[in-house]
Amino acid sequence: MFIEKIRHVITVKAAFLIFALTLCATIIRPLIIEQSIVFTYMGIVNSLALGCVFFYVKKAKPKDWQAMLLVGIVMLVMLPIVLVSGGNNSHFAYLFPIIPIFVSLVSSAKYTWMTTLIIVVCLLAIYFSSGLLPDYTYENVPHNKTVARTIWLTFSVLFACKFGIEFNRIISTLGNKLSEQAEIDVLTGIHNRRSIMLFLQNASDEAKLKNTQLSVLMIDLDHFKQINDNYGHLVGDQCLRATAQCLKQGVRQHTDQAGRYGGEEFIVIIQDVNELKAFEIAQQILLDIAQSPIEIEQEKSINITATIGLCTRSGDELTSIEHFIELADKALYRGKEAGRNCVIQATR
Ligand code: GH3
Ligand code: MG
Ligand code: MG
Repeated sequence: MFIEKIRHVITVKAAFLIFALTLCATIIRPLIIEQSIVFTYMGIVNSLALGCVFFYVKKAKPKDWQAMLLVGIVMLVMLPIVLVSGGNNSHFAYLFPIIPIFVSLVSSAKYTWMTTLIIVVCLLAIYFSSGLLPDYTYENVPHNKTVARTIWLTFSVLFACKFGIEFNRIISTLGNKLSEQAEIDVLTGIHNRRSIMLFLQNASDEAKLKNTQLSVLMIDLDHFKQINDNYGHLVGDQCLRATAQCLKQGVRQHTDQAGRYGGEEFIVIIQDVNELKAFEIAQQILLDIAQSPIEIEQEKSINITATIGLCTRSGDELTSIEHFIELADKALYRGKEAGRNCVIQATR
């Protein structure tokens, strides 16, 4: 999501640059060099069309085939001015290599390659049609120069295509890494509080919609401060990682989620099972934690326990997720008072 926003901003800027470049060229060029009035008229039409493209990109956020359509429009708009200003020798041909970069920003690698292929075919067609159309620059370019420029232009377009695709790939990888870092707890490797709360909110909305059951398990390690005091923080961290693994393995992959709520407190969300089943899952998690020895030295290990507060509610009973967590938390507190290493269900 975040990366999509960045990509859109870059695309809008690129569209604006192409538009501004064309407009400036249209205004400034006649002041610097003597040229046919045809170019000014065409420049105005091009600037208007590219201005429309810029506003369209800004508002509609085009994707894939829409991006292709846009490129088609840009090419149609550009082609006449290129054709009557010396074909591949034209000063306006500089816009061709920008197109693949632009497409790579708004769509996939497949569409970028397709666009590049179309441009290369156009360049060849322009080359073979040279001499058939009038050249309003009246420049006499030797044939070998035209060949060289066509080759360079083709390579520039291919290079721009590859560059655009690679740039896009790097942005996507970075984006995925960023969103992963924003969702995962660094120490334990399971979901962090932000991510688990988001999951709970979505699960709660779904349970309300379908009137299904939803369970929250608040899990707190027992006498964890003593573990830190007796064996040090590194062993404490090891216990947190081991607990996280137990939780991860104890829940279903696609429907449930385990996360670290903070400190030595964890939370598990279980969807669409009744109170009894949720209680069984919680008991199993408790057993797994108690039966996972933490190796602290060679041939020396310790065992930890946890207390779980469980709250199961049907969709029509759910209010806010904060209240839901509060109920599970109160049950957890009662579990601590009752002697720890147990599962306590929230009262109604
Ligand atoms: P209880 O059974 O009542 O839950 O007792 P407790 O000792 O587990 O509870 P308490 O809240 O007093 O202590 C929690 C401890 O967890 C204190 C804090 O130093 C430790 N802790 C919190 N986060 C981390 C962490 O990331 N790593 C380590 N090693 N310890 C942590
Ligand atoms: Mg605690
Ligand atoms: Mg504790």
